[in-house]
Amino acid sequence: MNYYSLHHKSPKTTFKNAVIEGLAKDRGIYFPESITPLSKDFIENISEYSNHEIAFEAIKQFVGDEIPETKLKEIIAETVSFDFPVVPVDENIGTLELFHGPTMAFKDVGAKFMAKCLEYFNNDNDDEVTVLVATSGDTGGAVANGFLGAKGVNVVILYPSGKVSDIQEKQLTTLGQNITALEVDGVFDDCQDMVKTAFLDEEIERTLTSANSINVARWLPQMFYFFFAYKQLHKQHKDIIFSVPSGNFGNICAGIMAQKLGLPVKHFVASTNVNDTVPNFLVDGVYKPKPSKATISNAMDVGNPSNFIRIQELFNNNLETLKSAFSSYSFTDDETRETMKKIYNNSGYIADPHGAVGYLGLKKHGLLENEYGVFLETAHPVKFLDIVEETLPVKVEIPEQIQKVINNKKVATKIATYKDLKSFLER
Ligand SMILES: *Cc1c(COP(=O)(O)O)cnc(C)c1O
Repeated sequence: MNYYSLHHKSPKTTFKNAVIEGLAKDRGIYFPESITPLSKDFIENISEYSNHEIAFEAIKQFVGDEIPETKLKEIIAETVSFDFPVVPVDENIGTLELFHGPTMAFKDVGAKFMAKCLEYFNNDNDDEVTVLVATSGDTGGAVANGFLGAKGVNVVILYPSGKVSDIQEKQLTTLGQNITALEVDGVFDDCQDMVKTAFLDEEIERTLTSANSINVARWLPQMFYFFFAYKQLHKQHKDIIFSVPSGNFGNICAGIMAQKLGLPVKHFVASTNVNDTVPNFLVDGVYKPKPSKATISNAMDVGNPSNFIRIQELFNNNLETLKSAFSSYSFTDDETRETMKKIYNNSGYIADPHGAVGYLGLKKHGLLENEYGVFLETAHPVKFLDIVEETLPVKVEIPEQIQKVINNKKVATKIATYKDLKSFLER
C-alpha cells in the first residue's frame, strides 16, 4: 500500500517508509492511497471471527505485501493480547474498555503494533532506529512497554520533571534495556519543542522517528476497537453511536476509517475537554489552533490536534458532509467531575476523567429510542488516581500490571536544554 503526504509535496511512499519516517519530508502526515471496504458477508458474520482474524482483515490492505501474512498475524497476536469488553453503564449506554493492556492505557495497542512493524522493517539494516518521544504522561509508558526489547530500535522518552504521576513515571523509567528516560527540567511543551528541534537538526546522524499517532502504524490499529465493539453489540443494537474522548483525534479518526471499511456506525462524537479547537471549527468552519490548556483529562490537552487533517481528508474536506456524520463537543473540568459522580451514583461504574468526557458527549448529542451509545474508556481509573479518589467515595485497587512496576527503581537522566538532548543523541 502506498501513502501520500497530506501536504501533497513529498512523493508517495510505501507503508515501510511511512512507518520509518513518521512524518513526510514536507512535514505532512501520511494517508493511505486507497480504502477498500471489507465484504458485507464478513461484517454480517463478524461474531464468528476471533479478534485476531478481525484485526487481520481490517489492517491487511494497509500493510499490503510489505509484511508477509504469517508475520503480520504474529504481530497482531502480540498486539491484541487482552480483552476489549463493552460494559453496560446505562440502559442505552455502554463503555468500551480499552485499558486492559500492559500499561492500562489504550495506546498499548498502537504502540505494540508500531514497535513490531519497525522491528520487522529494520531487521535487515545495521543502523539502529531511534524513536524519540515527548510525553505528558500516558504515551511514554505505552511506548516504553510496547518497544521494550525491540531489536534494532532504541527509544528515548522525554518527560517533564515532577509533572507526571508517580505511576506514570515508574512506567517509563524502570524498564531498562533499549528504553532511556530523560527527565526534563521544564514542562511538556519544552519536551515537545526539544523533540521537534531534534527532528529538524541535520547534524544529528541517527535515524530518528516519532511514536505518536501521526505514525500510520500507531494510528491504524486503533480501528480494531470499533470492530471489537460492534462484534459484541450488533445482535442487540443496530444504530451504534461512538463517543471518543479526543486529544490528537487519532483514535476517532481510526473509528471513521473502520466505518469506511464498511462497519455500520450511525454517528461519531468527538468529546473534548476545554481544548475546543475542533468543536469550534464545526460551528464556524474556521480552524484556529491555540496553545493547550491544562485540565484533569490531561491526555487530551491538545490545542492543535494533529490527526484532524486526516478526518477532513476522509470527508473530502467538505464541512457539511463531515457534520452529517460527526459532531464534537467540549466540556469543562467541573462538568467532568459532576459526571464522574453521576455515573458512579447511577450505576456504580468508576469512570476516569477521559471516559467521563466521552459519556458527556453522548448525553449532549442525545440518543434516539433505538440508538445505543458507546463511550470509549481510554484509561483505567488508577492512571488518574488522585482525581478519581478526590471526586468519588472510592479507593481504587491497584491492578497487578501497576503493582509490578511500582516498586522498581527509577532510572532517568536529567536534562535541561536542547544542547543536553543533542549531546545525548550524539553519544
Ligand atoms: C491519548 C489519550 C487520549 C486521546 O486520544 P487521541 O487519539 O489523541 O485523540 C484520550 N484518553 C487517554 C487516556 C489517552 O491517553
